Amino acid sequence: MAELESLGKVIPTDILIIGGGIAGLSAAITAKEISPDIDVLVVDKATSGWSGKANKGGGNIAYVDPEDGADEFMQYHVHKIGCFLEDQELLRAYGEESRGNLERLESWGVHIFRNEDGSPKYVKYTEELPWRLALIDQDVTLNMLKHTKKQGTKFIDKVAIVDLLQDGDRVVGGIGFSVIDGTCYIIKAKATILANGGQNYRLMRRWNSGRGDGIAAAYRAGAQMRNAEFGNFINWIFVDSRDVCQGAEDVLYNAKGQHITKAIRPVIEADLHSKEVVAWYKEMKAGNGPVCANMAENRILNEIVPAFHSDALAVRPIATAFWDRTIGKAMAAATRPGPLQEVIPGFIGEQAPVRVDHQMATTLPGLFAVGDTSWAGSGWQGAVPPPGRMRGSGLGNAVFSGVRGGPAAAEYVSGTARAEVNPAQAEALKERMFAPLKHSAGIQPPELVRAIQDVMSPVGNSIYMRQDRLEDALSKALEIKAKLPELCAKDWQYLSACNEVKSMVTSAEMFFRASMERKESRGWYIREDYPDMDNENWLKWIIIQNKKGEMVISTEDLPIERYPVKP
Ligand SMILES: Cc1cc2nc3c(=O)[nH]c(=O)nc-3n(C[C@H](O)[C@H](O)[C@H](O)COP(=O)(O)OP(=O)(O)OC[C@H]3O[C@@H](n4cnc5c(N)ncnc54)[C@H](O)[C@@H]3O)c2cc1C
Repeated sequence: MAELESLGKVIPTDILIIGGGIAGLSAAITAKEISPDIDVLVVDKATSGWSGKANKGGGNIAYVDPEDGADEFMQYHVHKIGCFLEDQELLRAYGEESRGNLERLESWGVHIFRNEDGSPKYVKYTEELPWRLALIDQDVTLNMLKHTKKQGTKFIDKVAIVDLLQDGDRVVGGIGFSVIDGTCYIIKAKATILANGGQNYRLMRRWNSGRGDGIAAAYRAGAQMRNAEFGNFINWIFVDSRDVCQGAEDVLYNAKGQHITKAIRPVIEADLHSKEVVAWYKEMKAGNGPVCANMAENRILNEIVPAFHSDALAVRPIATAFWDRTIGKAMAAATRPGPLQEVIPGFIGEQAPVRVDHQMATTLPGLFAVGDTSWAGSGWQGAVPPPGRMRGSGLGNAVFSGVRGGPAAAEYVSGTARAEVNPAQAEALKERMFAPLKHSAGIQPPELVRAIQDVMSPVGNSIYMRQDRLEDALSKALEIKAKLPELCAKDWQYLSACNEVKSMVTSAEMFFRASMERKESRGWYIREDYPDMDNENWLKWIIIQNKKGEMVISTEDLPIERYPVKP
């Protein structure tokens, strides 16, 4: 058996945080706040503070103001968004803590735009919604990075963590490699926090970084997954530019000039819904396409988005420059020459099923998960894929879960003995991790990425589901899975891509297996063959676990008797 040190660079720490996006940084900061003397190490396969999604998005962060009311928020969410599948205790906590989390962000150097009386400036999509969107610029994670470094947290960039190290069930760190020179890294940690994002299948450009490495690593290690069937978010996108067309859901017309969503969306709702995608699918099947958004009637894009981006509300130079460079030209082109612009559902995914408790502890001792990795798995959003028809909850959830998971990991560390890593286990994981480098010929990762995208993205497979289509999609995903051992890598970047495509296949398999199990429609989740919500039989969470290499599915009753909002 090899000595651990002979396998690679061995680094001991108290807390290992995998991923230096907004959730990982929130966890690092708050772990250090309660235990300044512990060692916290953040490892990112790109560059902490610069990578991740928080600095590439809309910069709105959802919070519930006392004026909105925590009870009203609960009622609205449970009835109109999560449809009784929420962990209502955690949902309430999100509502109650979200305003305070804005102040926390400020104390970490993030600028929250405020009125003269000190209240946060905000946007509301409609007055009825019992939450608001505060505003931040895209330097959010850079400011947090500075703050974290001052606290003494250490960082390693350009190292992709592939697998978790275990002592029995307990997670005692992670193993990965440098994407620059291939050095193997073995991080020994008393507690490990997964903060490495969700699964987006590399389909939509701006969501490209969500590749599900942490989800797959946790699954392989035996952690439970929950709500894997809610990993099918879409945005409407313009056909010509592939950029997001917010508000299209309210103004969709078929080729006969009929408004196809008016009947199902008589009023403006919290956000888009999969029911509009079903309407689109039926029109396309009936030969009534193309479906266009009537931009002249698009209130969200004409009124809300400009208000949101206006300098009168918030001067955000970094975000503005970024938007101009990325989506500005495409958006302008898409709205010319006439009001009718063809749109299609752009599959985003956002699967985030790592199951966590209220302190973001997974079902494995020593392993915590925060941010996009455990967003659906925490259960607070219910029967919706992230962002749960509540824009702004991505950043909100990242901070909310980070400030719970960081201190919980620090407490775990204080009561825990040293982490022992078994060299034989590390050696076996290293061999598996580097296996694609040994094949001189084989399948290149892009081929399987495309294959899995082709299975996930069709609306009939992942949004409007039916048993026969799900079975077919699963069998295709399993065919791709069978090819994974043939993957070959010509360099470290390709090796990283090999790991990512394996993660995508794991996510797809989880999605289809969980979806075949849920025999009802609820919230965002729509089945053609089970069109009704079934509170009699399906107030249950679907749990997935790796048991000796088998993906085992079980269900768990929600403790609905304990919750205040009942069906
Ligand atoms: C275009 C776009 C617009 C958005 N707009 C908004 C918005 O306006 N409001 C809102 O609330 N939310 C928005 N979101 C969502 C929000 O940005 C995310 O929910 C949030 O940033 C997630 O943070 P995170 O830290 O959990 O994950 P991420 O930001 O995804 O960070 C994960 C980190 O982990 C690293 N990593 C991944 N795999 C590994 C590995 N194997 N080893 C080591 N490191 C790894 C990555 O490099 C990355 O740095 C938007 C997202 C996108 C893409």
